[in-house]
Amino acid sequence: MVQHVIVVGAGPGGLTAAINLAGQGFRVTVVEKDAVPGGRMKGLTLGRDGEYAVDTGPSILQLPGILKQIFWRAGKQLEDYVTLVPVDPNTRVHFWDGTHLDTRRDLERMGQDLEKFGAGKGRALQEWMEDGRRKYALAYEKFICTNAGSLDYYAPWRLAPTLRFKPWQTLYRQLDSFFHDDRMTYALAYPSKYLGLHPTTCSSVFSVIPFIELCFGVWHVQGGFRELSRGMMKCAQDLGVTFRMGTAVERVRTEAGRAVGVKLASGEVLDADAVVVNADLAYAAQKLLAPELREGSRLSDGALERAKYSCSTFMAYYGLDTTYADLPHHLIYLSESARRTDKDALEDRTVDVEDPPFYVCNPGVTDGTGAPKGHSTLYVLVPTPNTARPVDWAKTEATLRERIPKMLEKVGIKGLREHVKAERYFTAETWRDDFNVFRGAVFNLSHTWMQLGPLRPRVKNAQVEGLYFVGGGTHPGSGLLTIMESANIAADYLTREAGKGPLKGWPYVPPMEDAGEQAPLRMARSG
Ligand SMILES: Cc1cc2nc3c(=O)[nH]c(=O)nc-3n(C[C@H](O)[C@H](O)[C@H](O)COP(=O)(O)OP(=O)(O)OC[C@H]3O[C@@H](n4cnc5c(N)ncnc54)[C@H](O)[C@@H]3O)c2cc1C
Repeated sequence: MVQHVIVVGAGPGGLTAAINLAGQGFRVTVVEKDAVPGGRMKGLTLGRDGEYAVDTGPSILQLPGILKQIFWRAGKQLEDYVTLVPVDPNTRVHFWDGTHLDTRRDLERMGQDLEKFGAGKGRALQEWMEDGRRKYALAYEKFICTNAGSLDYYAPWRLAPTLRFKPWQTLYRQLDSFFHDDRMTYALAYPSKYLGLHPTTCSSVFSVIPFIELCFGVWHVQGGFRELSRGMMKCAQDLGVTFRMGTAVERVRTEAGRAVGVKLASGEVLDADAVVVNADLAYAAQKLLAPELREGSRLSDGALERAKYSCSTFMAYYGLDTTYADLPHHLIYLSESARRTDKDALEDRTVDVEDPPFYVCNPGVTDGTGAPKGHSTLYVLVPTPNTARPVDWAKTEATLRERIPKMLEKVGIKGLREHVKAERYFTAETWRDDFNVFRGAVFNLSHTWMQLGPLRPRVKNAQVEGLYFVGGGTHPGSGLLTIMESANIAADYLTREAGKGPLKGWPYVPPMEDAGEQAPLRMARSG
């Protein structure tokens, strides 16, 4: 009987698992190598006295009802731990031709803006949204909040209703069939990069992601996403979870084909009835699981080598003695190279330091907590290859450090260099070495057809009883939303295994009637 569960890693996946499991009456111990929670979402401080605080990874929360539901299920209120703030516009996307578009939840306003790209584009948006409304609940239920634990996932009776999605169509084709303009198509298809794909290689089923962003909005966490990490840890502690921080796990221990605990890097041994691994899946498989436990599976060394991984990111974090209050919170620049479809571009083989696409987070416009008054922070994300490619990372860092201030002028950020008071940079090697991310591929396994659903490494490990994976590397995928769902899936397996029945209130598809809500969100209802 499962009573005590060890969770390896206090990233978003591990924290969600801990809240879920403690809320259902399990004894939970989280073992985290870092001193602070959050993993890629832990944030960092800059400046001599740490006067600037920046997020390191996630900056956009989609579908906040899912997070709210996780707290509710454990008998807690999200609002007691964090405050969510809607961001408007969602994102300002600058294009290769010098034009730009603000995507936003106010569809009427966005539709009016779209008319400047050509008559009828506002109407095209309405039609695309209508198409999305017809698909959303079905897509969420069939592809995201399901455990994909067997090939039944592909059963015709299950998937037949989804044929209307034309899943064989690419995201590019799907969007282009409505907008007939690459600017709109690429603006809405931008999440494909974070799925390890390109709009022309990504299935149209992922149109549910831009739909969710336009329908439910994009959300910021007051105090930054690092505050979400801390809030989730506090909630877990209030539920009785024990945290062993600054404690690296060296091995998952097994006996007679069952996970029985972990061995720490210090040599200490911890016992448990089940182990939930949140550390990056490909890293954890290779470093924490003995090879004989993975032979012949998707987690064998050979399979992990052959798998396809996402790009990595070059990150620039700045503390500034100025603010960019007239610019939006989220800015994207899509250079001409965002439209490249040659193999080098599609497979993220080379670094583009000439005119790369990039993303900028300008949180000070929503939330002044990360910097002293009159100051602000920025983070800049430039997609790069992961460490499987032969890149001179020191040279790449030196070049991008020097060029980013000039590049930022393309999104209206002028004179950055003279305002920088503190700065820090990450390359793919930082993600690999400091965050234990396999190849520094920060968005994990790509979401190709061969790495989706039951073909993606599963939440419940088939080789070792009582071993579960949560986080971006497993089903359903690599964003915060899907990471939280992986932890819901793990908790559903464990509550059943412990004889407690299915996980309370799951599966849960946030209803579209909640889409118009601004903070504070009302109590999410159980499914
Ligand atoms: C730059 C960037 C921007 C992103 N932006 C967004 C966004 O806006 N919205 C979104 O939805 N998603 C975003 N993502 C994707 C995703 O949400 C994050 O990467 C997320 O933090 C991943 O969570 P995780 O739980 O899978 O893994 P992690 O955050 O990596 O957590 C794993 C944890 O395991 C710990 N660990 C590792 N090895 C060990 C060990 N041996 N022993 C003990 N502990 C260990 C790590 O320290 C870490 O705390 C972004 C990612 C990046 C990198």
